[in-house]
Order: sequence, then structure tokens, then C-alpha cells
Amino acid sequence: MEKRISGHTGLMGLFGTPVGHSGSPAMYNFSFQHDGLDYAYLAFDVTEEQMPKTFEAIKLFNMRGGNFTMPCKNIAAKLVDKLSPAAEIIGACNVFVNDDGVITGHITDGIGFVKNLEINGAPVKDKKTVVLGAGGAATAIQVQLALDGAKEVKIFNIDDKFYERAESTKAKLTEKCPDCVVTVDHLEDAEKLAQAVKECDILINATTMGMKPYEDVTLVDKSLFHKDLVVADTVYNPEKTKMIVEAEEAGCKAIGGVGMLQQQGAVNYELFVGKEMPLAEYQEFQK
Ligand code: NAD
Repeated sequence: MEKRISGHTGLMGLFGTPVGHSGSPAMYNFSFQHDGLDYAYLAFDVTEEQMPKTFEAIKLFNMRGGNFTMPCKNIAAKLVDKLSPAAEIIGACNVFVNDDGVITGHITDGIGFVKNLEINGAPVKDKKTVVLGAGGAATAIQVQLALDGAKEVKIFNIDDKFYERAESTKAKLTEKCPDCVVTVDHLEDAEKLAQAVKECDILINATTMGMKPYEDVTLVDKSLFHKDLVVADTVYNPEKTKMIVEAEEAGCKAIGGVGMLQQQGAVNYELFVGKEMPLAEYQEFQK
């Protein structure tokens, strides 16, 4: 450490609360060291109310970049100088990059998800997609699918507080991405869901179902899985959800949530330093 940190070392960091559990400092600091880049990444526990001061500090210390986590992602989008297309539609950002004092906010959950699909041989352009959920992860994915040229994004959500968000995403995407057909339906409408799954190319679970302690819950009956269907989950704990196991058994291409997490980190790293993240080396180091 005494060899790596100098008077010239640039600062990057994560802002939000809580942040103590975050794996980001370990991952980015490993990568900086591996790539011989003179940056250090720390986690700062800050509240929404402290975000205006946080932005003053980011500029004062000339921080190159960093991340925002809950509950600071929405307020961050109001404080940055510019927003990426996805961050503008969503009104939230989880990444910032500082180019000579101009701070751009990005949202990379959806980019990481789509990149992971592509790496696994499932590009989204011109594809019909069904997305279960309308929370943070689901919204970022829906927006990125539309921006990346998906033909259809059919959103299904239960009748809870997130349903309204799905309606609002539909309205925004219809305006910004008119070539993508976006629909919103109730997840409880089994007939509509079955029809949509039968007709789609990619089925995505972006709800909390399938995640511990709901690991026995799947939202789509496995009898609806067809061979040409790609089934993707955002849930990464367990690594293989029940839905992913059933999709594999049905002969579908099945893509779990771990890759989304990794690709998001890689996308962020590239935004910070313009280089591919040494992901394989970091995974090896973690073993
Ligand atoms: P959120 O709280 O913002 O949204 C929760 C969603 O789950 C909503 O759409 C809600 O309607 C739905 N839901 C809740 N209970 C349900 C039920 N009983 N039946 C059907 N739907 C139900 O959560 P989030 O932050 O968007 O996270 C959603 C999932 O995405 C989680 O499983 C999380 O682990 C995963 N995620 C993965 C990554 C990754 O990198 N792989 C990143 C972010 C989130």
C-alpha cells in the first residue's frame, strides 16, 4: 500500500448508506493495482441530505469517478451536470464520471444485464422480451432493452406499488423509443402471461422471487418454456434459481444473475478508466 498510494493518487468512491458491506472497494482497488493505475477507491457513508455537500467534495477533490447506491441514486441524478440516455429516462444514476469538472451520471444495471446476455449469445436487438418486475433492476433493464433495439418489452408486475412505475416506464419509453412496443399487464393475469411467454424470445425475472428466502418460488410455469426461449434471471443468490434450473431442464438457454453483477462492474470500470476490467484475474484472486 505504501508503494501504491502517493501524493498524486486520484480518489474514487462509493456514496450511500449503508456501504460497509460493499465489495466495490476491493474489486476496483484490485483492478487499479493490477492495471498499474494510480487511483484509490473508498466507500463513504452518506445520506440523501448530505448529497449536495458530497457533490461539492467530489468537485473539490477532483474525484475521477465513483458510484452511488441506495438511497442516493435519485438525488444524484438531480445533482450531476449531464445524464446518460438511460439515466435521464430513469431519473437515477449509480455511476458518475468527472471529465475536467463536468460530472456525467450513468445507470449501468441495465447495460451490465444486456452485456451479459450478449456474452452468453443472446443479443437483444429485434427481440421480443418479457420482463417480470418493475422495481429498480427491472426498470433499468426495460429501458436498456428499448435503447438497444428490442422489438417488444412486455412488463408484468403484481398489483403493488411498483405497478405504477411500470406504467410510467411505458409512457417514457413510448415517447423516447417509439420503435419498441412496451406493454404493462398484471402478473396475476395467467392467460396473458402464458401467451406473452409463448410468443417471446427472452424471458427475464427481475423480481425478488427466486431469491433467498423465496428460492422455491417461480413466477412462470415450466410447461411454458420452449426450446428457442432464452430465460434470464437477475437473482444471483442462489446462483442458479429454480427458474434457471427448470429452463435448463427444458433445453432453453438459461442465464443467471451473477454475470449481470460482474458485467456491471466491468462497464463501470471502463467508464472510469477506459479499460477492460481484469475480471478473470479478480475472480481468481477471490478464490
Ligand atoms: P425492488 O424492491 O426495486 O423491486 C422488487 C420487484 O419484485 C417489484 O417489481 C415487485 O413488484 C416484485 N415482487 C415483490 N414481491 C413479489 C411477489 N410476491 N411476486 C411477484 N413479484 C414480486 O428490487 P430490485 O432492487 O429491483 O431487485 C430485484 C431483483 O433484482 C432482486 O432479486 C435482486 O437481487 C436483483 N438484482 C440483481 C442485480 C445483479 O447485478 N444481478 C442487481 C440489482 C438487483
